[in-house]
Amino acid sequence: MSQYWTTLDDLYTEKLLEPGAEIEQVARSFQIKISPTMQQQIVSASKEDRDALLRQFIPSVAESHILPEELDDPIGDRRFTPVAGVVHRYRDRALLKITQLCEVYCRFCFRKEMIGQKGENLTKSELQDALDYFAQHEELWEVILTGGDPLILSIRRLEEVLLALAAIPHLRSIRIHSRIPLISPDKISEELLTLFDKVMAQGKMVTVVLHANHAAEFSLEGRVALRALRSRGVMLLSQSVLLKGVNDHLPALKELMYTFVENGVKPYYLHQMDLARGTSHFVVSNEQGIALINALREEISGICIPRLIIEIPEGEGKRVLA
Ligand SMILES: *Cc1c(COP(=O)(O)O)cnc(C)c1O
Ligand code: SF4
Repeated sequence: MSQYWTTLDDLYTEKLLEPGAEIEQVARSFQIKISPTMQQQIVSASKEDRDALLRQFIPSVAESHILPEELDDPIGDRRFTPVAGVVHRYRDRALLKITQLCEVYCRFCFRKEMIGQKGENLTKSELQDALDYFAQHEELWEVILTGGDPLILSIRRLEEVLLALAAIPHLRSIRIHSRIPLISPDKISEELLTLFDKVMAQGKMVTVVLHANHAAEFSLEGRVALRALRSRGVMLLSQSVLLKGVNDHLPALKELMYTFVENGVKPYYLHQMDLARGTSHFVVSNEQGIALINALREEISGICIPRLIIEIPEGEGKRVLA
């Protein structure tokens, strides 16, 4: 299985979906991509785990059900975009949306209106404008690379960006939000680790915030990649999305948080779903989310507890729910 699944035909062949006109429509509005490692996890999982994995990546006709309150810019990034690719909403940190591509496309993605074929990587001149912006804003302590998945970029391109960021004196923390250590662990190459070494040798901390939503996403290869990152001094934190039918019950959430910590990843954020188009079938209520966190707190080690976060629409920002 060295090929990506990217079409409905791939999913029909694997008997993961029944052909139909409605699903064709859904697939046209948000593309499909499932990495070989994720395929391997899907194929080898128990029935229950398999459903939790498939639900994240396989298109569903439920996506054509669009609610009036669902938005194409659910967290209001646009208001805080001074130059292309930059979101500067909080004083000491800013996002750099360096690419719109990912190794898997998640059906619940809050950036689905710009991810995949709908977007492009930043051009060279846009990247230069972003770097100039960061250099001019001395209040910035941290730049957060996001996307898309920043680690999908070539080492050459990553090197260009990371070394340029490391050269900005007031930036002291570089954070990368990524699914790749688990989704395509082969991308955590020796070259990438050496690049992180170079950045840290300049006194800049590199943190990877790992996005995962279910313990069955952790393959052996993925665990090895996380260990490699950790052994090179990269700080690892987690972020997950609370998703109906994936991790919205105590045993699944407990196993996910245990698995993060067993792999050296400190649970950081559990996000409530944002109001992205056609994602209401994933929504878990705030009350249920808070109850789940409280139950976790009763039941498992304190180092395994994430914070439950919600993004207030229209760019109001993050709020801690529990
Ligand atoms: C979420 C987010 C951050 C990071 O927030 P932390 O609480 O530091 O993890 C930064 N900028 C923007 C625009 C964000 O949406
Ligand atoms: S990896 Fe992240 S950005 Fe990419 S589709 Fe999934 S949630 Fe969206």
